[in-house]
This record gives sequence, C-alpha cells and structure tokens, in this order.
Amino acid sequence: MSLSQDLTSEAIDKEKFANWLAKIPKAELHLHIDGSLQAERLLELAQKNKVELPYSNLKEIEDAYNFVDLQSFLDLYYLGASVLRDEEDFYWLMMDYLTKCRDQHIVHSEIMVEPQTYFPQGVEFRTMMNGFKRAIHEANETWGQSVLLILSFLRHLPEEDAIATLEKADEFRDDFCAIGLASAEKGNPPNKFQRLYQMAKERGYEAIAHAGEEGPADYIWQSLQQLHVSRVDHGVRCVDDEGLVNFLIENKIPLTVCPLSNIRLCVYDQMQQHPILQLLDRGVRITVNSDDPTYFGGFLNENYFALLHELNMSKEQAITLAENGFKASFLSNERKESFIHQLHAYC
Ligand SMILES: [Zn+2]
Repeated sequence: MSLSQDLTSEAIDKEKFANWLAKIPKAELHLHIDGSLQAERLLELAQKNKVELPYSNLKEIEDAYNFVDLQSFLDLYYLGASVLRDEEDFYWLMMDYLTKCRDQHIVHSEIMVEPQTYFPQGVEFRTMMNGFKRAIHEANETWGQSVLLILSFLRHLPEEDAIATLEKADEFRDDFCAIGLASAEKGNPPNKFQRLYQMAKERGYEAIAHAGEEGPADYIWQSLQQLHVSRVDHGVRCVDDEGLVNFLIENKIPLTVCPLSNIRLCVYDQMQQHPILQLLDRGVRITVNSDDPTYFGGFLNENYFALLHELNMSKEQAITLAENGFKASFLSNERKESFIHQLHAYC
C-alpha cells in the first residue's frame, strides 16, 4: 500500500472513531451554564432586554472569542450573562444547553449555576431558579435527561458575599448537590473561603472547587486540605507536584479537565502539550468536560474529538474517560452503575 493510501485509510478510521465517540453515553461534570449561552441567543436577549453590547452581529461576538488569559475571557463572559433578566431568559439558557446534551449523548450533566453573576442586574434567586427548573423538568420528562445542579461562587468577590448567597440558597437546598468555586483564580486562593465551605458542609452539600488551572499546585492542596473538596475542577497543574499526583491516584480524587478551554485560555500553547492522557494512564481519575463551550470553540463531543485528532487517544482511553465521568459524578451508586452498564452495552 502506498503512503497516500495509508493516510487515506487512517483518515477513514479516525472518522469512524469520531462517529462512534459522538454517540457514547457521556457525563459532563464541569459546565458553567452561562458559558453555554450561544451567540444568537445573546444578541436576541440583549435586544429584548435593551442591554447595550459593544457587538452588533454574530461575527463581532465570535471575533471577541480570542482570549489571552482567564481574565480577558471573564470580562466577555460577565457581559454576556448580563443580558439574562427574566424567568423565560433562564429557561432558554438551560433549554439550549440541555438540547445540546440530547444531541451529543450527554446523558448526565452536573451544571454550575452562579447566582452572584445576576444579582448586579437585580435578578432574584427565585427568577433564575424557576426558569432553570422548568427547563430541567421538561428535558427530564421528554427524553429522560439527568441533571444535578452545583451552586458555584465567584472567588473574585469577598467571602461574605458568597456566604450571603449560600444563605439565600437555603430555600432551594434540595435543588443543589454541591457547592463550587469559580472565576479569577490568581490572587484568590481557596483558603480565602474556609468559612463558606464549613457552612456548606454543615448544610450537607458536597464540595468541589476550581484549582490548579492558572493557579499553582498548592491551590489544589489547599482545596483538598482546607476546603475538603472531593473533586477538583481543572487541576492540571498537579503535574508540578509528584506527591500531589500520587495523592490524587491513591485517593481516587477526580479532576474535571477541559482540554479546549485550556488551549483557548492559553494554559497550554497547543494540545500536544496537554498532559491529560498521561495523567489518565498513570491512574488519575480524569474526566473530559467543556467548561464554557460557546466561548471555547466546542461542546463535550468536540473536546473528545480534539483528544482523538491531536493526541491520538485510543478507544480504551476514550472508554475509561467516559466511565470516569459517571464514577466521579454525585449520582447514587445505583444510578452510576446503570449509566456505566449503558456505556458498556454501547461499546
Ligand atoms: Zn470552569
């Protein structure tokens, strides 16, 4: 066979693999609902709610997606979220994402909701929750979509602000499985939020936090030892600390890794430098996620495709990643087993 025939058959194999990957039953554990706000919906809601944006069409919004770091992204992200005002807006934000879950075979999703993002526009906790819950209920009734919500706090704001939000959430305690910590990592270490995490623990929430994305490996240790999280968002900087990697393996601490996000926000210059598959092969409980899909150029399937095309992920690695998604979730053991069974039946 000639070299060009070899290359053609390799391309056909990869295409087959991608088609197979697209339909694997998957879980997504690291998704900010505002990060799924699609550009068309953003423009539509800005017009409806009379919010002035510095962009007048889709092209201008998409051009703004060229970020240089986490902060440059956050500036656009909060501007985007400022167009959400009434229950209907929140319904559509959630419904757009859940429809995507159906299309991409994301059978279970744990979605981060950040109420502090909406408070400056005068949005009530209840308004947001009513919209979200209506969409979740509908998706569950219509195609069996499984969803858990995570109450996520903005770490660039003071701890008191997060605590006030936690108290407001008491009314909706049963709607959230866990608390999380997001936004600008540098200069906002996990140990700034010890009281918040203690209060959430007393209320029975599970705990997770973003750590070791732009921040150092020490922030991952702080999350584990001072906030007592059971799962770490991103966590890729663990590679700088051999003892930490061993600790994650021994204690089966999951990392919710977001490959396309890490490239867009310049955590790595290119995908070839990403340690995701090395960490997986060493036995770290790695999961694949999209983080803020509309801003980072791809939903969950596109993240899997990037691992296939740029890191030569094997079928076994893909299955382990998908399986880890269910194992690392906050579902009951019975539900986890049922999804893993569904996955193996497909494979
Ligand atoms: Zn995130």
